[in-house]
Amino acid sequence: MTNYFHSVTLEEDKCRGCTNCIKHCPTEAIRVRNGKATIIKERCIDCGECIRVCPYHAKKAVTDPISELSKYPVKVALPAPSLYGQFGQDISRERILKGLLELGFDWVFEVAKAAEIVSDATRRIIGAGNVKKPVISSACPAVVRLVQVRFPNLINNLLKIESPMEVAARIAKQTITERENIPAEEIGIFFISPCAAKVTSVKAPYEKKESFVNGVLSMKDIHIKLLEKIKSIPWDFDGDLVSSGAYGVGWAGSGGECSALETPRTLAVHGIHNVINIFEEIVEDRLKNVDFVEALSCTEGCLGGPLTVVNPFVASTNLKWQVNRAKERDFSGENTAADYQDLLWTKDMEYKPILKLDDNMMKAMIKMQKLEEINDGLPGLDCGACGSPSCRALAEDIVRGLAFETDCIFKLREKVSDLADHMKAFEHIYRQKTED
Ligand code: SF4
Ligand code: SF4
Repeated sequence: MTNYFHSVTLEEDKCRGCTNCIKHCPTEAIRVRNGKATIIKERCIDCGECIRVCPYHAKKAVTDPISELSKYPVKVALPAPSLYGQFGQDISRERILKGLLELGFDWVFEVAKAAEIVSDATRRIIGAGNVKKPVISSACPAVVRLVQVRFPNLINNLLKIESPMEVAARIAKQTITERENIPAEEIGIFFISPCAAKVTSVKAPYEKKESFVNGVLSMKDIHIKLLEKIKSIPWDFDGDLVSSGAYGVGWAGSGGECSALETPRTLAVHGIHNVINIFEEIVEDRLKNVDFVEALSCTEGCLGGPLTVVNPFVASTNLKWQVNRAKERDFSGENTAADYQDLLWTKDMEYKPILKLDDNMMKAMIKMQKLEEINDGLPGLDCGACGSPSCRALAEDIVRGLAFETDCIFKLREKVSDLADHMKAFEHIYRQKTED
């Protein structure tokens, strides 16, 4: 049996069964039965949409606690570029990185630098020409999982290159091991994450056997502590910590990865439901003049991740300021991929169909026919009152033995009304018989 790790989890005690979340899930992974939500593990892509929309905060992303740092003699921080957007325009990148050191990390490596390396590798891979176009970025793990469960025809379009987080972790470990002669197992690499999907990609990677990252910390968890540290760092502090240029910093927001490619035939889409629409266009072969698609699950890209603190649009304005400052410190040409072959995925991605009704083809076809019949009998309102996200999903649940037709309030009303009619008819016959 397949084991699924998911960072997005449900706290059942907090769930009030309001059904808000079922409509927003892009893979129809949530059901509400007996007044409580459940997540179908095979379908969840850890996009975090349900975390955002639950009014009772019943969904959450499980990340590593800060106490995990104490397990390692050497502690390394990998700040996601979106961290820079979480601070106002009076707080420089230099102060943020210094603040991380003050928090207890021994080293800090910018993921933005690794993003520039990934951009360089991407340019070369597209330039080499032997890729299926449009190439789809694999930087957002929720989007990669979406392709895996809903768009099998696009698996070969995915850019099979490691994410900036993984590249940064690899460089950090190698650099510290070589420079300081410290064994790799004594080095703890901690990614400071804007989202749940990154946690899942570290704990259960799809592209290789094991991640170089040892722990994932929530941006939310460290934000206040970091802000406190930054306050005591002089406003004009300029250590030697910054190593990325404007392109790497820009990766945090939507369109950043496209800009770094310096080619016009790109498309940037953000928000998981918009991503689905664009993927449908690709499947229908309607995006012929696009070579590269940057697809990010969250609104405004990683700046809108469920573990961020600042409103994504405010964060986007903050980031622009950071990008402009980075342009003053030009690192262009420094962060390149010497040999990008090292950065390619070492595992093939398999399609994980979520709609398969049975392993046996014949049985699956019979169940599909049954599903269609049940669906035809449902009202087609997709009201969600039954606890399934749509009438079709309820029909599927019934075929799978997970729900009943009477979970639909309209069907229940029909049944009750039929029963009442039968009772009336029976009463009438009974009266006639007793009068006779
Ligand atoms: S994390 Fe995304 S895919 Fe998973 S249950 Fe929530 S909304 Fe659905
Ligand atoms: S949004 Fe979903 S998880 Fe939150 S209370 Fe409503 S049913 Fe429960």
